[in-house]
Amino acid sequence: MSRTRWVYMLHYDKPIGDTGRPGMWAQHYVGSFWTPQRIEHHRAGTSDVSIVTAFHAQGIAFTLVLLRPGGKQLERRIKQNGHFKNYCPVCTRAPWQGLWVNDTPRRKPPKGEQ
Ligand SMILES: [Zn+2]
Repeated sequence: MSRTRWVYMLHYDKPIGDTGRPGMWAQHYVGSFWTPQRIEHHRAGTSDVSIVTAFHAQGIAFTLVLLRPGGKQLERRIKQNGHFKNYCPVCTRAPWQGLWVNDTPRRKPPKGEQ
C-alpha cells in the first residue's frame, strides 16, 4: 500500500470555551487523514468531530498550520504531548518542532499542564 496517512494541526482564529479556566478552552485541533478532503469536511462542519463542529457553529475559521506524514499512533502521541500552542507557528514566534519534525517529543509535559 503506497498511500500515506497525514497528521495535521488546525489553528483557529479565536479560542472557544472559557479562556479563564485552564483545560476548559481550545484553539487548536490535531487529527489525521488519508485524503485532504477531510480538511474540507472540517471547513464545512460535516466532519463529525464535536470540537470542530463547535468552532464551525460559532463561525470561527481555521488555518492548517502543521502537516506531516504519520498514522494514528503519531497523532495520539502528539495529542498526549499537548502544548499545541507552543508548536503553532501562528501562536508562537519560534514554535517547537518536537514530534512534528522528529520522533521524540521536546519534553514531557509537566504534571497538570496541558
Ligand atoms: Zn495557534
